[in-house]
Amino acid sequence: MASAALTLADLASGRVDTGTSPIHEPYWWDAAPLKEVERPTLPMRADVVIVGSGFTGLSAALTMLDKGRSVVVLDRGVPGFGASTRNGGQIGSGNQKFRVRDLVASRGEVKATALLREGTRMLDYIGALIAKERIDCFFQRCGRFRGAMRPAHYEAMARDMEDLKRIAGVESFMVPRSEQHAEIRTDRFYGGSVLPEDASLHPGLYHSGLMARVTARGGAIVGLASAKAVQREEAGYRVATEVGKIDCSQILIATNGYTDHLVGHLRRRIISVHSALIATESLEPGLIDQLMPARRVYGNTNRVFYYFRAAPDQNRLVWGGRAARLSGLKAYRHLADELLSVLPDLGNVGVSHVWDGSIGYTYDALPHLGCTRDGIFFAAGYCGTGVSRATYFGHKIALQMTNDPDGKTPFDDLAFPPFPVRDAAQLAVPFVERWYRFRDAIEK
Ligand SMILES: Cc1cc2nc3c(=O)[nH]c(=O)nc-3n(C[C@H](O)[C@H](O)[C@H](O)COP(=O)(O)OP(=O)(O)OC[C@H]3O[C@@H](n4cnc5c(N)ncnc54)[C@H](O)[C@@H]3O)c2cc1C
Repeated sequence: MASAALTLADLASGRVDTGTSPIHEPYWWDAAPLKEVERPTLPMRADVVIVGSGFTGLSAALTMLDKGRSVVVLDRGVPGFGASTRNGGQIGSGNQKFRVRDLVASRGEVKATALLREGTRMLDYIGALIAKERIDCFFQRCGRFRGAMRPAHYEAMARDMEDLKRIAGVESFMVPRSEQHAEIRTDRFYGGSVLPEDASLHPGLYHSGLMARVTARGGAIVGLASAKAVQREEAGYRVATEVGKIDCSQILIATNGYTDHLVGHLRRRIISVHSALIATESLEPGLIDQLMPARRVYGNTNRVFYYFRAAPDQNRLVWGGRAARLSGLKAYRHLADELLSVLPDLGNVGVSHVWDGSIGYTYDALPHLGCTRDGIFFAAGYCGTGVSRATYFGHKIALQMTNDPDGKTPFDDLAFPPFPVRDAAQLAVPFVERWYRFRDAIEK
């Protein structure tokens, strides 16, 4: 096993002063470094300005460019600064976010069915896009294993999986505890569920592939160009940025967990929740195959859950969970602790990277797309399942902006409720999380 100054055991016990620090950047940036921007230059006008250069913005840009529109994508940071190059690269339909019965109770069976089936289409869409665009990003239908943290969670998941199959035709299977070593070599879980169609990719390579396809079609991606104000003009909009003004006929806000005050309508409806990840050094050859023989993406059933996987190109683990409010390396301590609770023999493995990012959450825990009264389009609020959802919503909103009837989705007519007191909700995030952690700990 590789030795490093800071091991998982060090990090888990808070002994972080070992002299050598892991890299404080996403592991994914090693293979797909973000491009430095020297002197951002802005065209005078474009048919469409897209604010945000993540999966939503780039996917929308591709669809717009294919429809013959000129497109400028703006980002406040270097392109790809947001969650799209920071995530765990686990790809789901979003359906695992719901307890199916709750969704049926709140939305009715017809709507719930339509929303769940749309989730499956999102998963299919990202696979088809990557294949069509030939983006080399390790996309793989590896399946998802979700470990039950309590026997009761296993039973509840089994019922939920049955409902998902009955209502939306989604295939899955349960793995009892006695057989779970075929999925993962741990006794931490009380069995689990497998969604075999779920997938994984390398987020950095996927993002840089999308950027390359956008620029190859003539789209401009301008980093270090924060949009500061959007003004309605007679024939469209004028967007003031920190590097000048740009006029456009249409504007799309694709800022998700990084949403600022630019558009009040969106600001009132999205809060940011931080998520953090660590990557380990390479493990001994063959060890990952022993520990995670199914090589899926993994998670658990807690309210404050963790998620993990093997990096696609290396024998290393990438482990994520909620970010702690501490600063410095100690903010990642609980991730190492949780990793070792599942795979306790890895204490001597070194930690190579630590990083975090912002997830966009909505009041009703559903993603939303649409248009404000001022005609400003948006797609956001993926609640932590944005690799497929952002790609799909970016495409759909671009179709809607070009009046293409294929842009219709069952998400169109959902009311998008604001947080009753948005800034208080944002401040309350750490306290809610602590409350959820407490409930996870005491639950039978
Ligand atoms: C740590 C972490 C782990 C995650 N893991 C997973 C996972 O495993 N699977 C999954 O499905 N989802 C995951 N997600 C969620 C997923 O990454 C996001 O939902 C998705 O990337 C959102 O894409 P986006 O394009 O909408 O937003 P982002 O990629 O966040 O891009 C928004 C961009 O908007 C820019 N911006 C904001 N304001 C302005 C402005 N005024 N002017 C110009 N630019 C602006 C920001 O700089 C940012 O680059 C994770 C998220 C995080 C943070």
